[in-house]
Amino acid sequence: MIDPAATYRDQAARLIGEAIVSNHAYDNLEYLCDRIGNRLSGSTALEEAVQWAADLMKREGLSNVRLEEVPVPVWVRGAESARIVTPVSLDLNLLGLGMSVGTPPGGIEAEVVVVRSFDELDTLGEDGVSGKIVLYDVPYEGYGATVTYRMDGPSRAGALGAVAALVRSIGPISYDTPHTGTLRYSDDAPKIPAAAITIENSALIGRLVDNGEKVTIHLEMEARTLDDAISANVIGEIPGSEKPGEIVLRGAHLDSWDVGQGAQDDGVGCVIALEAARLIGTLGLSPRRTIRVVFFTNEENGTRGGKKYLEEHGWELSQHVAAIESDSGNGPAEGFHLDLRAREGRDDGEAENERAEALATMRSIGSLLELTGSSTMKKGWSGVDIGPIVAAGVVGLGLAHDTSAYFNVHHTRADTFEKIDRGDLAKNVAAMAVMAYVLADMPERLAPPATNR
Ligand SMILES: [Zn+2]
Repeated sequence: MIDPAATYRDQAARLIGEAIVSNHAYDNLEYLCDRIGNRLSGSTALEEAVQWAADLMKREGLSNVRLEEVPVPVWVRGAESARIVTPVSLDLNLLGLGMSVGTPPGGIEAEVVVVRSFDELDTLGEDGVSGKIVLYDVPYEGYGATVTYRMDGPSRAGALGAVAALVRSIGPISYDTPHTGTLRYSDDAPKIPAAAITIENSALIGRLVDNGEKVTIHLEMEARTLDDAISANVIGEIPGSEKPGEIVLRGAHLDSWDVGQGAQDDGVGCVIALEAARLIGTLGLSPRRTIRVVFFTNEENGTRGGKKYLEEHGWELSQHVAAIESDSGNGPAEGFHLDLRAREGRDDGEAENERAEALATMRSIGSLLELTGSSTMKKGWSGVDIGPIVAAGVVGLGLAHDTSAYFNVHHTRADTFEKIDRGDLAKNVAAMAVMAYVLADMPERLAPPATNR
């Protein structure tokens, strides 16, 4: 096994230097945000973005640029409003949850019950919940820990007879910014309308109820799901010089929610992946293996792009040396997460050995990224879009951003371009470029191959 830190010092320095002086990623993201805007599955904006991305990949020097069609769900928000009717009169600031059903015409008016956990909901049971609107006024304890109230809260309330569900927005702070995001209806519960309200509104309702008031809310939502539409994953490559059939995939998702500009989620991930590939191409570094850039579609409300990629490329799964995703904003990357699962025919002990060896190699590569602050390598989550191929045994890497500011704007109207820090973006591009280049050029693979399917 070679020592990447010793072998690739010059190439890494060139990639980092070029990333810092290039404007491409920043300018490309500005165009995507300001000229195309947000890009929900089924929207004309997303298909405009797909065409733009394919043209852009060609302009930036990628080869084999192509679209792979993906049928995607079409959820339409429509008009939506909510107000407290009693004991005060107040318009609420809401965003319906993705994939929610609407209310009947004229809306729903009902008393609110406030819960701060699923245990509280279950204790209230059908007697306490039936016919009411459930508000999950749950304090934020990190995205992964709290998002279950948005995902599963509507069905759990519906199963007990609630007529609608409201969720305190999933985020650490709020300046009156509701956060949308998808919900997950279960098959065995009635589908009830569901929306996120701001932390401010949620806390107010919580205080009123805690003070013994009966709070009544009027909720109207036109949300509905139409027939599937055709979207596409956009793919382009820097072909490998010796082993073109072997692939280092770099992915992000081109779709976004229908508010804001989808700048951090995940326009920035797309431009990072593309720019990291362009730099390798323009510097003439010719890695042994192919670098494949994939802009996935429909991450936000279906993961259909990621699932379709597995369907289309299952035959060459073993040829994927690694898949790297960037989908947690533009905070400066601290390093990479390694997401290497136990695979067919190997037990947990073998998987643990593979992880230890892969991490050792990644740490050597990481030593080339000390200057950009991105040298920390640890086990962790990689990404939703590459999730299906990672679950099938491909080695997943996630660009591990500092997310301390990301969840303030995630899925809100405030996810806009002016919050993109140019210096952080350059560092993120550099980290992605160096990691992908070395993995694509090293004589050995990072870990044994997945099994084709
Ligand atoms: Zn995302």
